[in-house]
Amino acid sequence: MKTQRFFCKDCNEYRKCEGRTPSHILHLLLSIITGGIWLIVWLILLLKPQAWHCATCGSRRIAKHHELSEAIKNKRQANPVAILIGLLAGIAIGFWLMLSGG
Ligand SMILES: [Zn+2]
Repeated sequence: MKTQRFFCKDCNEYRKCEGRTPSHILHLLLSIITGGIWLIVWLILLLKPQAWHCATCGSRRIAKHHELSEAIKNKRQANPVAILIGLLAGIAIGFWLMLSGG
């Protein structure tokens, strides 16, 4: 769980908001177990904008800034470095499992 200050449309004020962070260790383990297949799911989760909610009222009507257009502009929060590392690690582990298993 991580917190950040966003504009809550229900409070009509800047509030502390809570967001879920994906568990990278869990996804890495699942990628190893499934031989890289889980990477597809991991990538989808990384590309999805985080589900933030207001810590005060619990509303999910959150904007990064007061203006709605700004919220749309900053919707994508995917980290390309994390995606690349995950992809390379998954491919390497998948190949290693294939070679050692066969
Ligand atoms: Zn609120």
